[in-house]
Amino acid sequence: PDPVVAVVGRPNVGKSTLVNRVLGRREAVVEDTPGVTRDRVSYKAEWNGKNFTLVDTGGWEQDARGIHKRVADQAELAVENADAVLLVLDVTVGVTATDEAVVNMLRRVKKPIIVVANKADSPQLEIDATALWSLGMGEPFPVSALHGKGSGDALDALVKAL
Ligand code: GDP
Ligand code: MG
Repeated sequence: PDPVVAVVGRPNVGKSTLVNRVLGRREAVVEDTPGVTRDRVSYKAEWNGKNFTLVDTGGWEQDARGIHKRVADQAELAVENADAVLLVLDVTVGVTATDEAVVNMLRRVKKPIIVVANKADSPQLEIDATALWSLGMGEPFPVSALHGKGSGDALDALVKAL
């Protein structure tokens, strides 16, 4: 079977937009309202001739109590069944408490983790992405999933790790 890649991160960072970018089609549901992707949805993907299954995550209630834990728990379930992880963050917002909950969960995970610094739509935001080195999760890849910029470098690193 193809390796499985879990796409995790808090609501609204652009996980589904990134999935669509990788797939090259509009399939994962993108919404301005956070938390719209139901549970976990799998897609067949390919990069540099390497096939893998992408798992988009989401589905928690927007303003539920304990949102940090719920997001981290959801991510953990997806990661348990995955061979590698795309951790998506929003450089325009920076690292929130929910991001930290996900990152802390991932610190125990012995699988390749690619840090995607998404919404890096401008040169200044690409520079801002370097701040995410401080997470201690490795190199942050500046990506604009919306405009299709930078995703190639992140995907190169991902498939190399598979
Ligand atoms: P998810 O909840 O993590 O799956 O996030 P979505 O993919 O649904 O995107 C949430 C919002 O962020 C939508 O309005 C997207 O259009 C927007 N978005 C996603 N990627 C980017 C990006 O690279 N740049 C900008 N400016 N907006 C983005
Ligand atoms: Mg989504």
